[in-house]
Amino acid sequence: MERYLPENQFINTLIYYAKRRGVKFSHSRTPLWYYRPDTRTIYLWKEDLRSQPLEFLITALAHEIGHVVDFDLNPDKARVIACLGVDEVPEEVEINAFLIGFKIIRDLKIPFSVSHYVQWISEPLKKRVISFLVNPI
Ligand SMILES: [Zn+2]
Repeated sequence: MERYLPENQFINTLIYYAKRRGVKFSHSRTPLWYYRPDTRTIYLWKEDLRSQPLEFLITALAHEIGHVVDFDLNPDKARVIACLGVDEVPEEVEINAFLIGFKIIRDLKIPFSVSHYVQWISEPLKKRVISFLVNPI
């Protein structure tokens, strides 16, 4: 699946980060990206890989890897999420994945600003993610 991603050092860095954690990639059957903790697989929507800008792909990948890290730290949460549909994931879980995803971007020294990152997030989540990123607790 990763072979459909554009050749880019930041994308490669994120993919490597995920693979080191034993994460696999597969293609999604619906126009959504999501992570299933029960199979440790990130599902990517193939159409996005050729049609969306690089910044979207970096944000989406970082978000899904944010879920990986969150669920590894909180196995109880992962067990609950594994039983839900992809559109039933609670808002708090989504926000957490965005926050962890941005921290990963920073840790990997990917030059990406808060405003670049949040441009792909829809409201009302966007406002909340910005407030956490600008005023961390
Ligand atoms: Zn998510």
